[in-house]
Amino acid sequence: MAINDFRPTKEVTTFYPPQRVLMGPGPSDTHPRVLAAMARPTLGHLDPVFSNMMEELKGLLRYSFQTKNMMTFSVSGPGSVGMEMCFVNMIVPGDKVVVCSNGVFGPRMVENVERHGGIAVVVNDDWGKQVDPQKVEDTLKQNPDAKILAFVHAETSTGALSDAKTLCEIARRHDCMTIVDTVTSLGGSPIYVDEWGIDAIYSGSQKCLSCPPGLSPVSFSERVTDLVKNRQEKVHSWFMDLNQLLSYWGGSSARTYHHTAPTNALYALHESLVMLAEEGLEQSWARHERNYQALKAGFATMGINYLVDAEYRLPQLNSVFIPEGIDEKEVRRKLLNEYSLEIGAGLGAFAGKVWRFGLMGTSSRVENVLFCLTSLETVLSEIGVKVERGAAAAAAHQNYAANPVPTSFSG
Ligand SMILES: *Cc1c(COP(=O)(O)O)cnc(C)c1O
Repeated sequence: MAINDFRPTKEVTTFYPPQRVLMGPGPSDTHPRVLAAMARPTLGHLDPVFSNMMEELKGLLRYSFQTKNMMTFSVSGPGSVGMEMCFVNMIVPGDKVVVCSNGVFGPRMVENVERHGGIAVVVNDDWGKQVDPQKVEDTLKQNPDAKILAFVHAETSTGALSDAKTLCEIARRHDCMTIVDTVTSLGGSPIYVDEWGIDAIYSGSQKCLSCPPGLSPVSFSERVTDLVKNRQEKVHSWFMDLNQLLSYWGGSSARTYHHTAPTNALYALHESLVMLAEEGLEQSWARHERNYQALKAGFATMGINYLVDAEYRLPQLNSVFIPEGIDEKEVRRKLLNEYSLEIGAGLGAFAGKVWRFGLMGTSSRVENVLFCLTSLETVLSEIGVKVERGAAAAAAHQNYAANPVPTSFSG
């Protein structure tokens, strides 16, 4: 029998993507060292050489999360899988979970709670605000049977940073475990898992770690691993069951097959974490802050203002109000087509009202700030917005000069 020819009608050869500058809400630019790491030979996922690399990776993640947790590893899936992994393992049907919602990702946590049979009690704050610790305190007082407090540390939909230390303190006082989303904060803002007493934390590879998307670093306290080990009811997911994953990620010896680890993707994460350790966590946080300050100085010359209060603004995610009366889609289209520069649109109530400029990981660099300001100035001027050409980059340069780089700067 003849085979059917289902090939596309157009001739398809290699896919060769354009070189963009990624300054949206993620993914961020992947560093050439990280891309090169992905191109190295594929190993079997049980190869001892690969196992050694996994052990190093766990150590590097412990450094990045500032934790001694044994169960610190990378989930084979994007940040959303890391999120689901926490909820599916920790919730037994009927459990009450207090979830904070101040943007796009809180409601996703609520979905997770409900889909896994939990009861969600939602603490709402306006988009653009941080989670209000007083509201959380009051809610936990009213719900003494609550088992878990879940919140987003860095809300990527708005650029607001919540006070994870205080929220974890409140949770502990009310005998609640914590699930913390640090997809956008890991590498860009301070996180101290052990000091803050976080029980379950997840992140993503493609934001401030500047690795391609698809991996989710996670870490679990002993309280969580004990809870999962002692569950009467099996975890409602085969793939995400922590007990099973322990046999693959747990120890360095006698690894058993669970699923085929994404070997080359893990080389990339390993390389990005080596780079973070070389730079130093504090230096990385300082670099994100410095580039944000310069970008902000440039925006000020164009009369562009921030959505989030300076006090709890994320340096790696800059949400700014779009100048009145312009076609904002046209601006983003021109930036992408003419400058190969990607920025983010607003979400929810802020769609069409704000732009989101990411300065995450490798994207948080001096040349990106200057390039972005100059390109935006040009495009705005072309569509008739009154801006003083050259002023934004000049202001950024001035800001950089006033904030000299710390020693051993590598970014
Ligand atoms: C990006 C993001 C996620 C989801 O990560 P994916 O890798 O897209 O699945 C979750 N939470 C926050 C705060 C994020 O910014």
